Amino acid sequence: MQIDHPILQFKNVSISYTPGKNAVNHVNADIKKNRITAIMGPSGCGKSTLLRAINRMHELYPDIRISGEILMDNRNILKMNPMEVRRMAGMVFQRPNPFPTMSIFDNVIAGYKLNGIRLKKKEKEEIVETCLTNVGLWNEVKDALFKKGTFLSGGQQQRLCIARALALKPEVFLMDEPTSALDVTVQAQILDLLREMQDRVGASIIMITHDLGVVAEVSDKVAVMYAGRKVEEGSVEQILFNPQHPYTKALKGCIPHLQRTPSSGRHRLHEIPGMVLGMAELGKDRCSFYERCPCGKPECMEHNPPAKAIDAGHEVACWLYS
Ligand code: ADP
Repeated sequence: MQIDHPILQFKNVSISYTPGKNAVNHVNADIKKNRITAIMGPSGCGKSTLLRAINRMHELYPDIRISGEILMDNRNILKMNPMEVRRMAGMVFQRPNPFPTMSIFDNVIAGYKLNGIRLKKKEKEEIVETCLTNVGLWNEVKDALFKKGTFLSGGQQQRLCIARALALKPEVFLMDEPTSALDVTVQAQILDLLREMQDRVGASIIMITHDLGVVAEVSDKVAVMYAGRKVEEGSVEQILFNPQHPYTKALKGCIPHLQRTPSSGRHRLHEIPGMVLGMAELGKDRCSFYERCPCGKPECMEHNPPAKAIDAGHEVACWLYS
């Protein structure tokens, strides 16, 4: 397997819900195959908008505009049939959402029905057993396959939704905070499952998360966004232990358990002073972190900093490095 081959490439992608106000601004990124890539950043910085664009869900909003290219296997998915794209990019949401009228069995194969793909009974049974086994649910539900999916616990429902996404063998899994609505013990099971999926079926996963603990536990690569732009990208080690962008450094300072050691006792939580810019400010050609940045320079107000490689696989967009 060519491990460093990109599964997805964003080329100068901008997305706006309102003309002139970009929710996602000139994003360039390569998402590696067979890796777990986390997208982090404050609420409203464009993470979900970017993720939804990958499986064309943004088109549910009539006024949305997107420019640039999103390439999967060198094909621009923005120009492909949306149903084909959704087969290639399986989505898992924050809150488990099994189809409420369907049984566990029918939930797993729902993607085939929605895509008009007919399967023989035996094929259906094999897919259901394989996918439920791959998410560690088979033994728990094999005697209740024809009960409603909603009868399961929250963690089981989320595993069912992951099985549903697995069933279509997508090229990439898109996960929008897949553990944040779950109980902590169940969160750990889902995180273990993501790692297993990567090992067992070579899954490529893009996951939005606010939780640096989750990033540390499962991610290989991390992209940090701020106010619609990608401000830093690197391996999990580079981002967690050697962050360079002032926002990423400040973010790390806000997390208690990355700083606390058994001997260090309690820490006060840091907070990042100031507020995230409003939509009206987002399109401007200047650094959007300037007002909150402890090391702002005059040029930060004049132009948006370009991304610069500062180490292998580690990129930062900040005038301190450009
Ligand atoms: P995040 O996922 O990082 O919290 P979003 O992608 O949800 O951010 O939002 C990015 C920006 O786009 C925010 O300013 C948000 O208010 C705006 N936005 C998101 N969804 C819509 C929508 N359906 N209509 C208009 N604006 C939206």
